[in-house]
Amino acid sequence: MDCLFCKIIAGEIPCTKVSEDDAAFAFRDINPQAPVHVLVLPKKHMANILECDGETMAKLLNAVKIIAKQEGVAEDGFRIVSNCGKNGAQSVNHLHIHVLGGAQLADHMA
Ligand code: 5GP
Ligand code: ZN
Repeated sequence: MDCLFCKIIAGEIPCTKVSEDDAAFAFRDINPQAPVHVLVLPKKHMANILECDGETMAKLLNAVKIIAKQEGVAEDGFRIVSNCGKNGAQSVNHLHIHVLGGAQLADHMA
């Protein structure tokens, strides 16, 4: 499958890996929008949240919690975002959750 994030997970394209477990893979965004900007994604390809089952989403959110603590943003707070589809400005069609933190974020979201 011609999917950028599947290739990153397979090690065919380099990334700065943050963590990996049975279901989730996490790496640093190449164009960070905050001091901490990690992408958390399912190892199994799915286009976006519309294709994600509850069990997988629970595993992704559990990975987010662990990563937030590891990255030192849990105490002061952080934001998660998952862009979906055209109006959501999704640019890579493999589900991913952005974890943004390490600074005060804007209070507007769009
Ligand atoms: P989206 O716009 O789909 O919500 O987010 C895609 C994100 O993937 C963007 O923030 C973009 O910077 C990031 N990204 C795109 N290509 C690469 C890449 O090759 N490596 C990494 N680490 N991040 C990427
Ligand atoms: Zn994929």
